[in-house]
Amino acid sequence: MSDLLTVVVAACNEAESLPRLHPRIIAALEAVPGLQGRVLYVDDGSSDGTWPVLQRLVSGDVRVGAIRLSRNFGKELALTAGLDQVTTGAALLLDADGQDPPELIAQFVALWREGYDNVFGTRRVRAGESWIKRAAAASFYRVIGRLSRTPIPADTGDFRLLSPRALAALHQLRERHRFMKGLFGWVGFRQVALPYDRSPRLAGSSKFTLWKLWNFALEGITSFSTAPLRVATYLGLFTAVFALAFAVWVVVKAALWGDPVAGWPTMMAVILFLGGVQLIALGLIGEYLGRLYDEAKLRPLYFVDTRIGGTGVSSGHPS
Ligand code: UDP
Ligand code: MG
Repeated sequence: MSDLLTVVVAACNEAESLPRLHPRIIAALEAVPGLQGRVLYVDDGSSDGTWPVLQRLVSGDVRVGAIRLSRNFGKELALTAGLDQVTTGAALLLDADGQDPPELIAQFVALWREGYDNVFGTRRVRAGESWIKRAAAASFYRVIGRLSRTPIPADTGDFRLLSPRALAALHQLRERHRFMKGLFGWVGFRQVALPYDRSPRLAGSSKFTLWKLWNFALEGITSFSTAPLRVATYLGLFTAVFALAFAVWVVVKAALWGDPVAGWPTMMAVILFLGGVQLIALGLIGEYLGRLYDEAKLRPLYFVDTRIGGTGVSSGHPS
């Protein structure tokens, strides 16, 4: 019996990297003894020549398939679309830009064969990334590590292998706001880290600006923790207790020493401070409410425009 592994690659405007990456993936798959390897590309609404490139890669190789989404849905949904297609065997997620070296596939498979369900690549170094991005990433992992009850390993991206049962579990999580790193952890099963050195991009530039990363971080925190809501509660409680004590003090002071009201500036400061705190708390609730609204619509997660090649890849999983 040979193991079946599908490499799922989400690509958005990666026409330059893909032709260079593809032979490496194929070579890496062929290098693993007893492995039946397949590759599935997901074109996430690219506006450059990515789709023609994929058509060329797919033609004449039954192991390779590609789907094209109806528009750009973002990396998390593109990966979801890809994983949905994998109904047999394990899946391995890989970035299209060559930052996750396919040469490591053998090591992922070795750990899978040892019985692990979720083998995730952990970055030892982050070459070609600015110190701002590295610092932001480090503080993000620290915050979410403290807030979330689902363990989310630091410096871990989407480069990972999922065993058939972990994949089947993931298929059942159909939420719209998909913080994949969290979802992988949430399904549980046996997990193990595989440290690796992240290379710089082969071509093009990162699609994730700092602003996008910030929103991504918000997504992660609000998807996996309600702690911010509780912070608002405690902040309110603390302020109320403080205000009560202060009121008593003012009354006592006036009764004992006949001291009249003390000034406009302090009052303004208190009013503005409280106003600010209230708006922050409202905003926090809004963040959660907005996500609830999105989930309540129960729309499909994505639409597939075209599907080509990959006769080995079964289709028709409910999306
Ligand atoms: N990607 C995607 N859809 C998007 C943005 C990115 O499928 O809307 C893919 C992209 O093609 C790449 C991977 O996600 O394969 C990671 O993107 P990128 O390299 O820009 O992010 P970074 O490595 O800088 O975090
Ligand atoms: Mg990248």
